Amino acid sequence: MQLDLLAFGAHPDDVELGCGGTVIKMSDLGHKTGVIALTRGELGTRGSKKTRAQEFANAAKIMGIAAHKMLDIADGNVAVTQENKLKVIREIRAHRPRIVLAPYWVVRHPDHGHASALIREAAFFAGLKKIDTGQAPHRPNKVIYYPGRFEFQPSFVVDISEQQERKLQAIQAYSSQFHNPEKAKYGNDATNISSPEFLDALVTRDKQYGSYIGVPFAEPFLVREPMRLDDPVAFFGPEYLTGIQ
Ligand SMILES: [Zn+2]
Repeated sequence: MQLDLLAFGAHPDDVELGCGGTVIKMSDLGHKTGVIALTRGELGTRGSKKTRAQEFANAAKIMGIAAHKMLDIADGNVAVTQENKLKVIREIRAHRPRIVLAPYWVVRHPDHGHASALIREAAFFAGLKKIDTGQAPHRPNKVIYYPGRFEFQPSFVVDISEQQERKLQAIQAYSSQFHNPEKAKYGNDATNISSPEFLDALVTRDKQYGSYIGVPFAEPFLVREPMRLDDPVAFFGPEYLTGIQ
């Protein structure tokens, strides 16, 4: 299925946490969106492979995305190898997205950093026709990065005020991973992300970026290269100020 936007995460739940509001907004606007987890998250302290697959599907439904898939790269071993690059190239060629979302490369979890490089390289090589996967070559117009634990000076921020509630619902669909009053069901191992403070911090970050553009909630993105802009006067026209206080 051809997609307008394809968001990659190293693990199920990475996309929801990092840029879930924007993915939902793009679906709301009628763009075809997809989410791919490179791994099945089998190393997660809480939850099993099976529960995480179900949670991933539930979150996809809440986000209104057209396609979601988990690849079989080993959790904890997301390496930039030829084999893994080909797995990502096949997905990019199958979905032919205009833009690809990838994790920012400064990370706490090593898989996220490797995923960032793997996706960037695969997006480039997917455009070379002599890399034969039996599919037509396709290079996305832009790879755009979303934040994980650490932040960056954003290239732009997206107003997600109307999507923020659904973003939280999509995150809470991962009931084995995040704060849950019934957490004993998933074992009592507290993790970095299972405390109520983790979700509070996420909401605070959305509010912080919202404050930069005068809206309740927003998500930041980073573009590595300078962005082409042919008519800055038109771009910063009256519509640019819509909703900005
Ligand atoms: Zn992750």
